[in-house]
Amino acid sequence: MARYIGAVCRLCRREDMKLFLKGERCYTDKCGYERRSYPPGQHGQTRRKKRSDYGEQLREKQKVKRIYGIAERQFRGYYHRATRMRGVAGENLIQLLERRLDNVVYRMGFSSDHAEARQLVRHGHFAINGKRVDIPSYLVRPGDVVTVKESSRTIARISEALAAVDRRGVPQWIDLDKDGFKGQVKQMPAREDVTLPIREQLIIELYSK
Ligand code: SF4
Repeated sequence: MARYIGAVCRLCRREDMKLFLKGERCYTDKCGYERRSYPPGQHGQTRRKKRSDYGEQLREKQKVKRIYGIAERQFRGYYHRATRMRGVAGENLIQLLERRLDNVVYRMGFSSDHAEARQLVRHGHFAINGKRVDIPSYLVRPGDVVTVKESSRTIARISEALAAVDRRGVPQWIDLDKDGFKGQVKQMPAREDVTLPIREQLIIELYSK
C-alpha cells in the first residue's frame, strides 16, 4: 500500500493546523508549523485564495486521512462502512478510525505518534485479551484489554512515550494502567472524545457525490 514518505511537517502546513505527526517534537519550538505557518511550496506565502465547497471538503478529507495515517482506498472503505452503520455517518466514521488498534496504542500512550504506533503493532509488541495481534487496522471493542508484551516493556520508545502521556491526556473511553503496561477500552469512543477540529460532515458530502 502506498505510504507518504515525504516530510510530515509539510502536511501540517498544508492543512494549516498541527496534526501531531512527529511525536515529542510537536510540543517543542522545533515544530515546523510553529516556525512556518504558511503552506509549503513556491507560492506558499502568497495570500490563500478562497476555497470552493469541493476544496473545503477535499482538504477536510485529506486532513483526517493524514491524522490517522490512512491511504485513500482504506479510508473510502471506512466511509462505506460508516454509512451502513446506525446513527450519523460522520460520527460513525470517526468512531471507526478511533477504534483502530494503532490509534488505540497511540491514545493509550504506548507510542508518541500514529506512525510509530503502526510500526510497533506490526512488529507484534501488543496483545489483545492475551492474544498477540499485529494488525494495525484491527478494531477494538468495549472490554478489550490491550497489553504491551512482557518482553517489549523495555523498549525505550514505548517507555518514553508512556512517561510523556500525561501531557497529551488519555481519552475517557480508555482506562490506562501505566505501571501494568496495559489499557482497557471502557466504551465505544464518542465524537466529543476527539478534540481535534474535524468537520466530518464535509467528508461524507465529498464521498456521497
Ligand atoms: Fe506538525 Fe508535529 Fe511537524 Fe509540528 S512538529 S509541524 S505538529 S508534525
